[in-house]
Amino acid sequence: MPPEVCPSCALPSPGGAICGGCLAHPPAFDATLAVGPYRFPLDRLVTRLKYAGQLPLAAALGERLGATARRTGAEARVDALVPMPLAPVRQRERGANQAREIAREAARIAGLPLSGALRRTRHTAPQASLARRERARSLRGAFVATRPLHGARLALVDDVMTSGATAAAAAAALRRAGASRVEVWVVARSFPA
Ligand SMILES: [Zn+2]
Repeated sequence: MPPEVCPSCALPSPGGAICGGCLAHPPAFDATLAVGPYRFPLDRLVTRLKYAGQLPLAAALGERLGATARRTGAEARVDALVPMPLAPVRQRERGANQAREIAREAARIAGLPLSGALRRTRHTAPQASLARRERARSLRGAFVATRPLHGARLALVDDVMTSGATAAAAAAALRRAGASRVEVWVVARSFPA
């Protein structure tokens, strides 16, 4: 991880200050925690996990994420970890949700419970391929909370954050249900070229 990243979106930012992008458009989540940038070796590991179905890797990556949360004190800011849900059709195809496998191990290391507070209603196209306005449309209604979350402080867990649009849509659904804090914890943060 470059030492100086924006605490809100985890992109490089001089002095670790809130970046211009987040000042102009505050994201729907409060903070982003990443083990490191989406480059070697994390990019290879995440790709293998995602497309070669190497689930044991999820535990190793989750352990790194949990350790990062402990080192940075992020684990004290939230009460539970919420795996980024897959659409039911995707879950059936893959047999497992890699975000859930990562979150399970991160939760164990961080000493936090796992929460199934979020459900995905449908599959959405990869957001990186869409323009900003199309992203918002494609994600509308894609996530719903499974129960009221009055005052809950939650961390959404996923493998990679790229545009942040999916995380923002998921975070907004948790907020609508009453969550008071929503962070995004990812293994790798993809930096714009
Ligand atoms: Zn930022």
